[in-house]
Amino acid sequence: MNFCSQCGAPVSFRIPSGDSLPRHVCDHCSTIHYSNPKLVVGAIPEWEDKILLCRRAIEPRHGKWTLPSGFMENHETTAEGAARETAEEACARIEVGEMYSLINVAHISQVHILYRARLLDLDFRPGEESLETRLFSEAEIPWDELAFRSIALSLRLYFEDRRAGQYRFHVADIPAPVHPA
Ligand code: ZN
Repeated sequence: MNFCSQCGAPVSFRIPSGDSLPRHVCDHCSTIHYSNPKLVVGAIPEWEDKILLCRRAIEPRHGKWTLPSGFMENHETTAEGAARETAEEACARIEVGEMYSLINVAHISQVHILYRARLLDLDFRPGEESLETRLFSEAEIPWDELAFRSIALSLRLYFEDRRAGQYRFHVADIPAPVHPA
């Protein structure tokens, strides 16, 4: 951020008095522009023993597979966000069930929340942000072609739970990727 969205004056990046972290501060109108983590909400849409995945038509991870999910909007609940993302990315209608996983992705300041969900019919197709939508059995999951680690982790837990005969709620932290020196 370079300019204040309240008054248009240039902002400085400094620790406001009484605070502990640097913020974008407007020295003209005194507005402090806080930046906080983003919530990503999504669904695990189930149909019999299969789940619905979308192949991404957008960056990042264009061409990779993911569960329908995306940034939560203002004034919606997490469950409403999961249903909306599923409608947008897969043109699919779901009944949102239990919250399944909450995954901290702290190094990019995101929290990912996935719900189990019941696909209500087979009338789905790719939305604007998807190249392809299809149902996958566990054996068909394209593990090496999944877009995000939080999705891969949630799917692994999901199929483990299914084999164990009980779905549990999972909280996990995804560490920053280790880049070779
Ligand atoms: Zn200002």
